Amino acid sequence: MTTPALALRGLTKAFGGLVAVDGLDMAVRPGEVHGLIGPNGSGKSTTLNLISGLLRPTRGQVLLEGRDVTGQGAAARVRLGIARTFQNIRLFRHLTVLDNVLAATYPRTRAGLLAVLARTPAMRSEEEAARRRSLELLDLVGLGRRAADLPGDLPYAQQRLVEIARALATGPRVLLLDEPAAGMNPAEKQELLALIRRLNREFGLTVVLVEHDMSLVMQACDRITVLNFGSRVAEGTPQEVRRHPEVVRAYLGT
Ligand code: ADP
Ligand code: MG
Repeated sequence: MTTPALALRGLTKAFGGLVAVDGLDMAVRPGEVHGLIGPNGSGKSTTLNLISGLLRPTRGQVLLEGRDVTGQGAAARVRLGIARTFQNIRLFRHLTVLDNVLAATYPRTRAGLLAVLARTPAMRSEEEAARRRSLELLDLVGLGRRAADLPGDLPYAQQRLVEIARALATGPRVLLLDEPAAGMNPAEKQELLALIRRLNREFGLTVVLVEHDMSLVMQACDRITVLNFGSRVAEGTPQEVRRHPEVVRAYLGT
């Protein structure tokens, strides 16, 4: 069996007496779009926080391409190739859309902070290259023409796309998306679906998709893990998961 792009082993997170993620095992295969679904409060965002290193688990491990990264901080995990978006948009309100994306490229620059501050010629050319890449990423998400605007001038759905561009700017191999379709209309959701597919197929990104919109999840994902009370209640293809009695009972429930 190939090494999973991302593997969770017995992952557990307790907040005081509340166990938000409870012994979760999950394997994301390289190159797949892997859905993570479950009712509100079932531990999806907490799981993404544990994968991205924003939270430390109470127990268990996170493995990136077979390597245990549980002890690594969030910045180190970005460098190792894990990027994410947030359920609640987190953009710099006083930076342009382009600068928001550009800012995310800095952890990747080789020149280091001193060179950035000194604005050496090497740094300037690296900065120009980063600026070009950031613009390309904005084009990729369909926002090239909004580069000079402030995030707050964009509709909510487009702010979500800026977040995706910003995540891409870190050069990830695994992209974690937390409810990217929230606040999107049906046409915007279709564009998001096309973007996720393109990132996956054309750019080879492995994607973990937390999403409420079942139609989008079923269309976007190769496999899906279903959570309830922080534990896995089902895993499989969209077809398998849709028919799973636990899922129908605990989640789809209709
Ligand atoms: P989901 O994303 O599936 O809706 P979350 O992972 O956000 O669920 O939350 C899972 C549970 O953990 C919820 O009961 C939530 O209130 C709780 N929780 C999440 N983050 C924290 C925190 N930082 N402190 C305390 N409780 C939290
Ligand atoms: Mg959430």
